[in-house]
Amino acid sequence: MAENSSEQGRPLTHFQPEVAYSPEKKGPQTIEIVADPVSGEILKSGDPRDVRLWIEAERSRAEALEQKQPQLEVVRGGLLIPGLVDAHAHPFIYSGLKLHDPIDASQVETKENLIEHLREKAKEKEGGFLVATDLQTGKIRDLTREDLDRVSAENVVVYDPSYHGCVVNTRTLNEARKFSGDYERVARTKLRGEILDDGHLTEDYVYMTWEMIEAAKSVEELARMTKEEFDRSLRRGVTSLHDLELGTYNEVIAYLLLRKEMGDKFPVRRVFVQPRTYGYMQGQMDELRRLGLADQIARGEWGLKLYADGSFGTHTAMVSSPYADGHGRGAPFFTDEQLNGAIRLAREEGLDTAIHAIGDSGIQRALRLARQWRSMDVNADDLKFRIEHFELPTPTGEVMQEVSDLGIWVTPQPNFLLDYVYSDRLGERVKMLCPHREMLGYTDRVMFGTDGMPTSMLFAVWLATHAPEKSQRLNFEQALLASSLTAAQYEGENRGKLVEGQKADIIVADRKLEDILLSSAVVEDPREVPVSAAIDALEKNIQKVYLRGELVHSK
Ligand SMILES: [Zn+2]
Repeated sequence: MAENSSEQGRPLTHFQPEVAYSPEKKGPQTIEIVADPVSGEILKSGDPRDVRLWIEAERSRAEALEQKQPQLEVVRGGLLIPGLVDAHAHPFIYSGLKLHDPIDASQVETKENLIEHLREKAKEKEGGFLVATDLQTGKIRDLTREDLDRVSAENVVVYDPSYHGCVVNTRTLNEARKFSGDYERVARTKLRGEILDDGHLTEDYVYMTWEMIEAAKSVEELARMTKEEFDRSLRRGVTSLHDLELGTYNEVIAYLLLRKEMGDKFPVRRVFVQPRTYGYMQGQMDELRRLGLADQIARGEWGLKLYADGSFGTHTAMVSSPYADGHGRGAPFFTDEQLNGAIRLAREEGLDTAIHAIGDSGIQRALRLARQWRSMDVNADDLKFRIEHFELPTPTGEVMQEVSDLGIWVTPQPNFLLDYVYSDRLGERVKMLCPHREMLGYTDRVMFGTDGMPTSMLFAVWLATHAPEKSQRLNFEQALLASSLTAAQYEGENRGKLVEGQKADIIVADRKLEDILLSSAVVEDPREVPVSAAIDALEKNIQKVYLRGELVHSK
């Protein structure tokens, strides 16, 4: 403590919980902890008597050296667990979507009604993009550019539910052509998909409209909204997260702005972009340097986001036996050529690789890519390969053996157990979704995330520990491990254990939370779960959240 020369002694927090859970240990622990907000670390942890002796020794030492006594803030009682990590989050994309302020077209069944509805909305708006989502493509099949010209002379974009396609008006079509040409030059890439005279856009051209919408808004506003999202995460006990896709170049800038502004309190530990966006960033390095942001692009923090398939909601997740309601077997997203190109890029640039794969056939595609990635003599510990969602990994034994052999990390979402609503299309297969316990039988490399559906890690832990099937159900320590320490190990950070030298990311909660999480009840049918009430019942027990030893939320 020789370096301490301030008027006040150094501030330390002394946690005296009734009970603590640290994911590497089995069962409840009786420990006390001393955390230091200056170094951000846990200085001492262990048996309460040892911790108090250590504090006495520190006091005597300060006295002997004629220094100020440490200022001890005591936090008594409750349940103590490490801060949670959401290893699959979308804070920037969701903030971007709010900026779009989209109109929900899911209830509109005829073209005339849609145009009428949009015209009304256009009157309320003062220029800028008019955005509608969830176009019912099954019912409104022939929407064109000319129809949307009747809505407004400003920009109009109508997206289909999967965002595979959209329809735009004439003004937007012309601007999209120019924008896409410029984008291709900067990113040195050829965009995929179609941009047709009748106003229909597909694949990469759909993303170009996102780029245009966000580029028309203020990037500072996007950063501000995302920072609010971070605050909400902290209140939910999430102290770190992995952002599984910055969707646009504006989101990249907002990311770098916030990273610079927030320093070591910036919660995002890993960030992913599609190869297209990565290329565009490289092409904009001069601008990023001019903005003073280029040095915020940290080596080892970035990865590529790839897509093997789609989602159950839109019947686009790839499945080996057809959907029960007659919608085929899903569809690949990225082509093999795109996937292979991305692996080469990841290797050249030292990027992690995250591939979205949901259906069993989608997961097989991801595994094929991983095999190839392995055969390129890539050191598994340098370049990390992870499969996102990993929702229907069947046949589970075979798939998990390969995941383990290849050193793959998987990031399932326990809250996708709510996908029992898709028993209409999956039939009995819903019972094979999210087999967390079987996964952990083969590998430790299982990280939980929420995908923002809903954005509650405590709810994810609760669902994983109360899941209907034995193959899905974890005990509390296993669920906590997948929600804290494992992601830290993926990052190579000292975090996630309540021991000395680890980052002091800590949640103090009412012990009622322990009762709920450790109860032996089982959710028979996830469709019956009252989601927001369940989340509230969990999260209202959070009393204090510490980030790097600093109190960031208290109620
Ligand atoms: Zn996602």
